[in-house]
Amino acid sequence: MKLHSYVQGQWQFGGGESTTLRSAVTGESVAEIARGGLDYAGMLAYARDTGGPNLRARTFHQRAIMLKELAKHLSQHKDEFYALSTETGATRTDSMVDIDGGIGTLFAYSGKGRRELPNGHAVIDGDMEPLSRGGSFIGQHVWVPLEGVAVHINAFNFPCWGMLEKLAANLLAGMPAIIKPASQTAYLTELMFRRMIESELLPAGAVQLICGGVGDLLDHVTGQDVVTFTGSAETGRKLRCHPAIVNNATRFSMEADSLNCSILGPDAVPGTPEFDLYIKEVVREMTVKAGQKCTAIRRLMVPESLVAPVIDALSKRIEEKVVLGHPGDEGVTLGALSSLDQRQEVRDRVRDLLDTAELVYGNPDECDPRGADGDAGAFMSPLILHCASPVAGSPVHDVEAFGPVSTVMPYKSAADAANLARLGQGSLVGSVFTADPEFAREVVMGSASHHGRLLVVDRTCAKESTGHGSPMPTLVHGGPGRAGGGEELGGVRGVFHYMQRTALQGSPDMLSAITGRWMPGASRREGEHPFRKDFDSLRIGDTVKAGPRAITIEDIEHFAEFTGDTFYAHMDEEAAKANPFFDGRVAHGYYIVSLAAGLFVAPEPGPVLANYGVDNLRFMTPAYPGDELSVTLTCKEKNLREGAGYGEVRWDTVVTNQDNESVAQYDVLTMVATAA
Ligand code: NDP
Repeated sequence: MKLHSYVQGQWQFGGGESTTLRSAVTGESVAEIARGGLDYAGMLAYARDTGGPNLRARTFHQRAIMLKELAKHLSQHKDEFYALSTETGATRTDSMVDIDGGIGTLFAYSGKGRRELPNGHAVIDGDMEPLSRGGSFIGQHVWVPLEGVAVHINAFNFPCWGMLEKLAANLLAGMPAIIKPASQTAYLTELMFRRMIESELLPAGAVQLICGGVGDLLDHVTGQDVVTFTGSAETGRKLRCHPAIVNNATRFSMEADSLNCSILGPDAVPGTPEFDLYIKEVVREMTVKAGQKCTAIRRLMVPESLVAPVIDALSKRIEEKVVLGHPGDEGVTLGALSSLDQRQEVRDRVRDLLDTAELVYGNPDECDPRGADGDAGAFMSPLILHCASPVAGSPVHDVEAFGPVSTVMPYKSAADAANLARLGQGSLVGSVFTADPEFAREVVMGSASHHGRLLVVDRTCAKESTGHGSPMPTLVHGGPGRAGGGEELGGVRGVFHYMQRTALQGSPDMLSAITGRWMPGASRREGEHPFRKDFDSLRIGDTVKAGPRAITIEDIEHFAEFTGDTFYAHMDEEAAKANPFFDGRVAHGYYIVSLAAGLFVAPEPGPVLANYGVDNLRFMTPAYPGDELSVTLTCKEKNLREGAGYGEVRWDTVVTNQDNESVAQYDVLTMVATAA
């Protein structure tokens, strides 16, 4: 099988020398991959000129729906992905993490995009910032898609997830991508990519694929492009310093090898659920993807007195539970590394670690895989090392053996554990297994600055915990320092990596017109009651003013008795006066909100379908008996729900008293029917 690249809408086998990619399990040829020979500058231009405009023509919600359809389409082809995934050395469970994990990320981003982003082309960031005394000059931050290309250079260990977790965010942002999978497992990425193209769900130019080297691609990146890299720290450093990336200030996000730790609390002695959970999780992390996970646990920090029990328990569990063998076989829990070269690399790194650590379980040079050839396939048995003196500068904090290898090391106190965690120089993830909140707090506060994610496991959450090694689409993935300093995922946070935040300044009317959100100080339009207008005819700035209505002591007492809210500030004149905020009995805030609704409502059946909440409710000035309240309701923002027959409308609401003081301010949220 020849691996083709997808270049400017065409499948193409690159030029130059080609390389044979071999099965991690049998060593037999799986595919041929070319080294280069593509028009890389042309690919970037095609993405910028065709893909970008095509994607940006769609709204966030339309792109989110596209992601969902894509995820559904890929789900239908899972069987063939799983079958091919075995050649990478992956067991069924490993493939699930890669294939279902990747598809799940598309689904997650689709949901997030429709719930948390507007159905438009820009995202308004935060509130308007007043910049002038008279209110005629304001500021507003907005996010808009970058007009370049997301270039994703991915690692060999997650050929599917690695592609999809990044693609989800850039496509949702409205940015096209060029994906370059690691050569060793590119055949699986190519298959999934081929199914994506066949679906015809993505517009022309939205995605392209490079199987092989990147040629002079990086020479042509600009300040509108984003380059993401996952792989070794060495390659990452080289790419980060590429002249075009440096000269153009191209955004560069890196995720590199990291020496993640897992800390056992002093309370978690043998016999406690936390001890058992720790042993189980460590063995799981050593065996899933044969330990070839950027998030895998490399350093095990345990109280001095628990070193021997932990080594014993880990060894016992590996003996009892881990089955090394052909990843396609039922019952096998530890498959192969991705290649014989990779196995040699792990063996070399283990030798480095053995400078200051001793091997307490396993043999790096021997293994006997079930149903497979241990010489032809890249199999390796789990290895546990023990480092009695894990001082700063020791290889255990510096050398990553990217396989089923972990090192146990002692700590003396919570502060010492946090310090050891920090010696990893920046990690993607760390975990703490303890039922002691004080210990957990000290370790977390002492090491969070050095981690992208921290997981605390105790008996109450273990059953539902997603585990140490699983990045979640909704939580950030990435870490400081040695882990690369990048950040991915994290829900819509990840989308903003492909967008530019711009501070707009101007008049309220101008910024309202540009952003599609009514800004305080902008013109209001009174006329037909806005509740009588359907979603399509409603315009930003449409306003109804109503009132005044007087507050009486009878109304306050009626509201108190009716709802049961007889708080003293509403019922007891003397007690209310003693309160530093009030001059006497005051109206309930919720009464004011209810009264306002009674003033602005248009009661007859009409296009307004429901009120689904209020946002940012604040009571600004107390309302006393005798006060006269008025309300101004202004159409602030509209958000169409694709294909639902309605849209969401946000109304700026201000309740004022007879002195024009603001009594209450909030946003009313409604659903309004579209035109029939
Ligand atoms: P590399 O850093 O060599 O490769 C990662 C990606 O970069 C691949 O797609 C590779 O393509 C590409 N690449 C390599 N050189 C260049 C270049 N000069 N210009 C552009 N792209 C380039 O890592 P490996 O895959 O070889 O893994 C080596 C080690 O990295 C592992 O042993 C492990 O320690 C660590 N690693 C860490 C990961 C993490 O997620 N943190 C994931 C995987 C590995 P190609 O394959 O075609 O060379």
